[in-house]
Amino acid sequence: MFKKILVANRGEIALRVIRACKEMGIEAVAIHSTADANAMHVRMADEALCIGPPPSSSSYLSSSAVMTACNVTNADAIHPGYGFLSENPTFAEILEDHGITFIGPSAEHVRTMGDKIAAKRTMRELKIPCVPGSDGPVESTEEAGKIAADIGYPVIIKAAGGGGGRGMRIAHQPVEIEEAFGAARREAEAAFNNKDVYIEKYLNKPRHIEVQVIGDGKDKAIHLGERDCSLQRRHQKILEEAPGSSITPALRDKIGALCVKAVAGLGYAGAGTIEFLYADQEFYFIEMNTRLQVEHPVTEAVYGIDIVREQIRIAAGLPLSLSQDNLTIRGHAIEARINAETVPSFRPSPGRVSTFHAPGGPGVRMDTALYTGYDIPPWYDSLIGKIIVHANDRGSALAKLSQALDELIIDGVDHNVPLFKRLLEHADIQSGDYDIHWLESWLASTEDW
Ligand code: ADP
Repeated sequence: MFKKILVANRGEIALRVIRACKEMGIEAVAIHSTADANAMHVRMADEALCIGPPPSSSSYLSSSAVMTACNVTNADAIHPGYGFLSENPTFAEILEDHGITFIGPSAEHVRTMGDKIAAKRTMRELKIPCVPGSDGPVESTEEAGKIAADIGYPVIIKAAGGGGGRGMRIAHQPVEIEEAFGAARREAEAAFNNKDVYIEKYLNKPRHIEVQVIGDGKDKAIHLGERDCSLQRRHQKILEEAPGSSITPALRDKIGALCVKAVAGLGYAGAGTIEFLYADQEFYFIEMNTRLQVEHPVTEAVYGIDIVREQIRIAAGLPLSLSQDNLTIRGHAIEARINAETVPSFRPSPGRVSTFHAPGGPGVRMDTALYTGYDIPPWYDSLIGKIIVHANDRGSALAKLSQALDELIIDGVDHNVPLFKRLLEHADIQSGDYDIHWLESWLASTEDW
């Protein structure tokens, strides 16, 4: 087992990983930018090293700065968390070359899945059902128009290197193709330095269902059921739950078994998430994330397991400590992502937190790096915490979430707790009757903020 792990991240996820390390008797090294000198992850780690100025490009995203920190502190592995360097195949490769363990899959798997066109092709070969669309990159407006006519409108043009909901454009009819194609390509080039785009049928009322998998890097894999992440704004999730209220045990077994076969077939190492759109009892693959997800705690809650611990064990060459037969779902878990942002513009709201008080009680977990007096820097993602509740059934979990949100105090900055409070009162959220477009249309029809 590793002696020392460097946690190449910040915020709540850095804390999450540091906790797992300490529980496993492994020393944890924090890295930070100058803007994060007083951050909680710096205080909680055994050692901390400043790696650069506030912009992530010169600190958390700089592989040379992170590598240097690893050498200086003599860490034998790096946990990347999510975001930053977590899905950067070149970084994983550099680590492989230097004999430092990347806690995640091989650089090759990170690279394949990071290119959504290659990922879809790979998954199709592994018998995973995909959204109908182009087989490879689409080179011209004419080609886009031809494929769109074939699969039928509406269509969505997406960036091969995309992430974070960017580089996507919808065309409802032929006249919109030229504009959508051009805009998606421009955004893809600017944001991901890769102008390749592809086309998919735009599904009208799907849910976002994703399957958590863990592979041992050889030929064994397990699945940890699904998460429903359909409540989204700008293609980004804000509330996630497990199990999915629309998924029956038989469907879970079926899609789970397909995913396990694919992951085992790939010889995939560590945790991953296979994302699907789900409509009319059919699953359509959209992408695979080769890292820990923000929403992993809902799965941990219902299965009573620790996914980060499993990631570390597998990276250290140990076998899976879980077996499919012993995994059973207990109850229902929901996560609300707390962002420092103004609603409904969703503009980030950095600044000093004058008071912070976390909710508590049985079945309530809050993952956050906030404290009273903390200055939320303007440089990074607006996610400042997650509340995860776990109860016997969905109704009780919703009630628990509502109570937890009432207890939570974050003063000094704007945040989205008022949004969640209103959402929880809505009949569609209470009944679970919503798809990936529900939140955007509800926001558009709600004026009295
Ligand atoms: P990203 O990597 O940017 O998160 P994804 O491919 O995972 O991109 O898609 C993010 C979200 O965009 C999905 O959860 C869904 O809401 C929407 N989306 C993506 N593809 C489609 C599609 N074919 N039809 C309808 N919505 C889609």
